Amino acid sequence: MKILYSAKEDEWEIYQELLDRKLSDHGFTGFQIFRETDTKIEDIDFVIYAPKNKNEDFSRYKHLKAIFSLWAGIETIISNETIDVPLIKMVDEGLTKGMIEWCSAHTLRYHLNLDHHIKTQDGAWCFNKNQLLAFERNISVLGLGNIGMEVAKSLRDFGFSVSGWSAQKKFEPGIRCYSGEDALRETLEGADIVICLLPETKKTIGLLNKETFSYFKDGAKIINAGRGSLIDDDALLNSIENGKISHATLDVFSEEPLPQKHLFWSNKNVTVTPHIAAISRPDTCVDSIAMNIARYKKGKDFVGLVDNDKGY
Ligand code: NAP
Repeated sequence: MKILYSAKEDEWEIYQELLDRKLSDHGFTGFQIFRETDTKIEDIDFVIYAPKNKNEDFSRYKHLKAIFSLWAGIETIISNETIDVPLIKMVDEGLTKGMIEWCSAHTLRYHLNLDHHIKTQDGAWCFNKNQLLAFERNISVLGLGNIGMEVAKSLRDFGFSVSGWSAQKKFEPGIRCYSGEDALRETLEGADIVICLLPETKKTIGLLNKETFSYFKDGAKIINAGRGSLIDDDALLNSIENGKISHATLDVFSEEPLPQKHLFWSNKNVTVTPHIAAISRPDTCVDSIAMNIARYKKGKDFVGLVDNDKGY
């Protein structure tokens, strides 16, 4: 079995060591791990991949069985016409836990109005008797996939009143699950905080726009850790300007890095974070890849198999 590591050069050694150890733990022997600078890599079985080059030619690997993306979001890879093998998006504990922590932190920050005390420490003793408890706060999570559902469950377990929205109907105790385009309005209406964890697809690009922002509760807050293209930036800035949206926390952007002149940077009602909500950690990513290779060898389906028709 031959595996090609085609991702960040500075992480090659750690991936090489982890793959060696974790594939051995699964009982594999005699495998070889290559990187792109190695020669004679045509008869590769599996590629571990993070996008670097838009014109990557996968057709040169004649024995390729599958491509493992190190990212959960695969919108930049899926359109590559040289791919004719299963594409696997990253589903791993590290990404999911990282996202639970990041989304919970910003939800709690909004819920407890922490910015007010942190940013305006001005000597004024401002006692607020009207602190809501979590069960009084409605949270809607857009996207109930591998990550979104775990975020929704975690916020439910914390005590928040949680709704979620997906393409196919989900059933999860304690979470009001909506599905399909017709239910988007109901999912957004009444939410104090909307958390966006959708993938970028033809159907989701620009999903949050002038019209759909009008469905939001007045003064609602939005957290986007899905993809920047889900939001029409101008529509969001207008909704902030007119008070429809009181604050946005954005981790992902249509253009990354977010250009220095972008109005999000200077808007006091926008928090920008540099695509750090959940990072791919080598340790848990390699667990996931080794598990999937073991599944493949046993004739089982891959976990995280991308559906090309759906686009995620
Ligand atoms: P996933 O497992 O593929 O789940 C996607 C979810 O979105 C599913 O629930 C799916 O519905 C729903 N969905 C897709 N298209 C929809 C539509 N048109 N209408 C309604 N629902 C729709 O993805 P994931 O692993 O949870 O990750 C979600 C996204 O998070 C990734 O694609 C990536 O963009 C982003 N992400 C960001 C970071 C970061 O650091 N900021 C890190 C990791 C991931 P069904 O369940 O019915 O199919």
